[in-house]
Amino acid sequence: MNVQPKASHYINGRFVEDEGGQALDVLYPATGEVIARLHAATPNIVELAIEAARAAQQSWARLKPVERGRILRKAADLLRERNAELSRLETLDTGKPIQETLVADAASAADALEFFAGAIQSFNGDFVDLGGPFAYTKREALGVCVGIGAWNYPIQIAVWKSGPALAMGNAFVFKPSENTPLSALALAEIYTEAGLPDGLFNVVQGFGDVGAALVSHPVTAKVSVTGSVPTGKKVMGLAGSHMKHATMELGGKSPIIVFDDADLENAIGGAMLGNFYSAGQVCSNGTRVFVQRGLHDRFLERLVERTKAIRLGDPLDEDTQMGPVMNADQHAKVMDYIASGKAEGATLAVGGSAPAMQGFEGGFFVEPTVFSGVTDQMRIAREEIFGPVMSVLSFDEEDEVIARANDTEFGLAAGVFTRDLPRAHRVIAELQAGTCWINAYNLTPVELPFGGYKASGIGRENGLAVLGHYSQLKSVYVETGNVESPY
Ligand code: NAD
Repeated sequence: MNVQPKASHYINGRFVEDEGGQALDVLYPATGEVIARLHAATPNIVELAIEAARAAQQSWARLKPVERGRILRKAADLLRERNAELSRLETLDTGKPIQETLVADAASAADALEFFAGAIQSFNGDFVDLGGPFAYTKREALGVCVGIGAWNYPIQIAVWKSGPALAMGNAFVFKPSENTPLSALALAEIYTEAGLPDGLFNVVQGFGDVGAALVSHPVTAKVSVTGSVPTGKKVMGLAGSHMKHATMELGGKSPIIVFDDADLENAIGGAMLGNFYSAGQVCSNGTRVFVQRGLHDRFLERLVERTKAIRLGDPLDEDTQMGPVMNADQHAKVMDYIASGKAEGATLAVGGSAPAMQGFEGGFFVEPTVFSGVTDQMRIAREEIFGPVMSVLSFDEEDEVIARANDTEFGLAAGVFTRDLPRAHRVIAELQAGTCWINAYNLTPVELPFGGYKASGIGRENGLAVLGHYSQLKSVYVETGNVESPY
């Protein structure tokens, strides 16, 4: 199980160590065993990474977009070739079942690099006709960009940030979550092998203080963070105080609305995907499932039946459908929410325990859990749990459910299940959420911008929109006649 990397950090095209940094043990969440020992970055490591990025950026930005794209495309191919080994690494780092990591992690990162490699070639400014004089706008790189990751999709997050940043001509310094530091180092090696010049993608490890040091560094032009709302507020404040660009991909408490006329099995499948994938540790999860009164009982009965059949266990076994949550703290937090659901009077329909698993006694497993009879004011209906806990709420009227769905500080995602298409579009139009699905849930193709409203985020990842967030616009006015001056 030892997956010790060559060193903790990757700077200027090579692995770098500084044992003076705080120890950082990496645990396999299924057993609790230590699988790698790293060190957090010292101020010297932060300085080296930023300086390497600064030194490499300008000549990279001067390449033609097609030349930058070619290197990213090669990295996409390498990610696909190594999908099996990268998936195993991601499973050991996160505890997510290999069944998921084989299709969702390095694979989605490869898709993203392929997309940005192509998209950047036609991401140009505008021509503006001024009736004689004219003007054009030009998209320019920002410079050195910093990415800060969460633990749930480590390699995907690293690529969703670095891919568009690099495509646009920026250099990048990435700080993975302290819980999942491994796959970003593998990605760094792949970028180098694909031909990315040294210094353009650097990885430094560490806790929040390292993230803060990167954000406040005078050379840093932008930060993109994926994390919780409290962290986002801190990083946004810090970025603001130094006048840096910032993208925030934060948490959620998203609604899934199931109308009486919905296809029952599809709606249940969507709700399960939107609550149990990655043991519920997905920011866009639809953890408030509003089911219209006429379908409610049949929905719940079948949901419980299908939830009981979920195979929890050894993440490296391809038949396993759900693994543990991230660590002991997260486990305690999820179990505390389950206790609060019971204490506040919700009905535990299925799950609710921390199962004892033979051979995985030290693992952080939680049964897939469904509460019914949940009301809007309960903590399990208001706060992000980030674990496999679904709340089912009932409703009667369209207007009522829209108001209740929007009654939250969050606004990351929302889903509607109905066969009535006018209603689907009408309801989606009223929902305060950045990423929405009709008769589906949690699909995030790279072609589509992803991000939140309200406290769930600022800026967007993916689609062409993200290229705008990794660039700045230069407006150029061109005179074709004489300068008319009053002087
Ligand atoms: P977290 O907020 O604890 O940490 C996120 C990252 O921020 C980590 O790398 C951490 O070291 C760093 N950090 C913490 N304090 C910092 C500071 N003061 N300055 C700079 N960096 C700091 O989040 P987590 O527990 O790793 O991830 C779970 C959260 O992330 C959930 O709320 C989830 O919804 C959210 N998330 C959002 C998205 C999205 O795209 N919207 C995706 C995945 C996860």
